[in-house]
Amino acid sequence: MQEKKKSDIAVLLGYAGNYKRLTFLGLKLSALAMILGMLPYICIWLAARDLIAVAPDFTRAADVGKYGWLAFIFSLAGIVVYFAALMCTHLAAFRTASNIRKQGMAHLMKTPLGFFDSNASGLLRNKLDGAASETETLLAHNLADIVGSATMFIGMIVLMMVFDWRMGLSCLLAAVISVAAMFTMMGGKNAALMGEYQAAQDHMSKAGTEYVRGIPVVKVFQQTVYSFKAFKEAIEDYSKKAESYTVGVCQVPQSVNLTFTEGAFIFLVPAAVLIAPRALSTGNFAEFVTDFAFYAVFSAIVSTALARIMFAASGMMLASTALGRIAQVMEAPVLKVTDAPKKPADNGIEFKNVSFTYDGADMPAIDHVSFCADPGQTVALVGPSGGGKTTAASLIPRFWDVTEGQVLVGGVDVRDMDPHVLMEQIAFVFQNNRLFKASIYDNVRAARPEASKEEVRKALSAAQCDDILEKLPDGMDTIIGAKGTYLSGGEQQRVALARAILKDAPIVVLDEATAFADPENEALIQKAFATLTKGRTVIMIAHRLSTVVGADKIIVLDQGHVAEEGSHEELKEKKGMYRRMWEDYNKSVKWRIATGEVN
Ligand code: ADP
Ligand code: MG
Repeated sequence: MQEKKKSDIAVLLGYAGNYKRLTFLGLKLSALAMILGMLPYICIWLAARDLIAVAPDFTRAADVGKYGWLAFIFSLAGIVVYFAALMCTHLAAFRTASNIRKQGMAHLMKTPLGFFDSNASGLLRNKLDGAASETETLLAHNLADIVGSATMFIGMIVLMMVFDWRMGLSCLLAAVISVAAMFTMMGGKNAALMGEYQAAQDHMSKAGTEYVRGIPVVKVFQQTVYSFKAFKEAIEDYSKKAESYTVGVCQVPQSVNLTFTEGAFIFLVPAAVLIAPRALSTGNFAEFVTDFAFYAVFSAIVSTALARIMFAASGMMLASTALGRIAQVMEAPVLKVTDAPKKPADNGIEFKNVSFTYDGADMPAIDHVSFCADPGQTVALVGPSGGGKTTAASLIPRFWDVTEGQVLVGGVDVRDMDPHVLMEQIAFVFQNNRLFKASIYDNVRAARPEASKEEVRKALSAAQCDDILEKLPDGMDTIIGAKGTYLSGGEQQRVALARAILKDAPIVVLDEATAFADPENEALIQKAFATLTKGRTVIMIAHRLSTVVGADKIIVLDQGHVAEEGSHEELKEKKGMYRRMWEDYNKSVKWRIATGEVN
């Protein structure tokens, strides 16, 4: 455990960069502050000695006032230095946390885009952000307190030698027992129990979040809270773990710890009672009383120092789990960037014997797929759900890298291109296209930040968004998702198309949405498609076969394989999967006409 803690701090200081020195300065100042804080007690001892020596004629104790002032100055200096120490450690802690955020974000920028499919970017950011701020307390307070408390223990041992070792030892003994009790709660086999307790707590809070997310389902299906078995079990598990840890492990050590922390003088009084008779008989009674007064007052600061160690230990654990979460982000796979980037010759696309298996899947989602789209051609990917269409399309902009084979753009393997150049070549509109909570203008402009307002307006118009802008209160400047401004799925799709049109890239990858079947939207989306695809190489995933009739080439993907390939006319003649799909499609259209859905 000790080993691990050291390395946690080392990891954390690694993020501090140049601010590491400031941390060390802060720690030194914290130690100095503790020493300064102990000096007033020596002044008290000196004053007490002088007073007892001259008693009862206190007017002869000339130096007492001086000691009082010294004590005051040392206390003040201690506070000022401690303040300075915390300034240093806080500055370093904030800078370290911001470095962690920056490095984490920089790392995430290098991960393949597909990574965010299974790890929502918002959650990742929250994870990073939360974990970074959880390290602050350790660097800002806990480390300084640990150093301060360690200094105090050394100081105590020194003072023990200087004044009366027997009374000193009795103070120290109480402190040692209290620390030992504290560590039995966290060390050895109890560490595992504490880990289980914390894991149960974590699990319960996650199950709670799931529960809140599921409330709509509960309401719709008239279920009760008890249907959330997972949440109930998590609570019960937590209460069981909490009880077994607190009652089974903490009960005795925590009582011992608190008794000896709050009653640091517990051995001091009996020790003094034992020593007193001898002091009387040897004539050193005055000195004995002075020493006793010193230790009685001094023992009070022991409990403060112990409480600080306690907080520090919990700060360490918090930081340790936070660092674990930070490591998860930092260890996310990154996209390999080539050293010798090549430029694509044109905007043709070719899949050469491509296979791709998702992480953890036992079947390839794409299995030895080959096809090509010549510059300017439109190639449609069709086939049953789960056939691998979306996966194939996402290999082009390197959302993922192929497991086997090659994806070529302009004759160059996408892995041999500068990722920025590749991204400039491709505009993509995916099923789950995400609009940010920003104005429509900013959402569209994201494709080309330097675009003028007029260009954005033209793109929106080309994407058939005029009706959307008309009905929104602030037109293009309306914030999407703000109160009262909601866009339907089809409308969002059109705004996403405007974004792709504005990008004006030579290659377009389109994953057509299935869900937006209202005919008005469909017609508008088709028009927007037509503008977007004109004069470009297009890979289009189509769910309505009406869209693919005019494609130069149709690829039927089934279970990761190319089942059929050809033009609409060719495939319609074959008695294969496409023909069946076409017949089904026509039936559904007839049905829609019959029910009056299509005009
Ligand atoms: P389609 O777009 O043709 O419906 P997909 O390309 O989405 O098909 O899916 C192909 C296969 O890959 C399916 O079996 C699907 O379950 C799997 N798959 C899709 N996305 C992921 C993912 N992010 N992780 C793991 N498996 C996935
Ligand atoms: Mg799909």
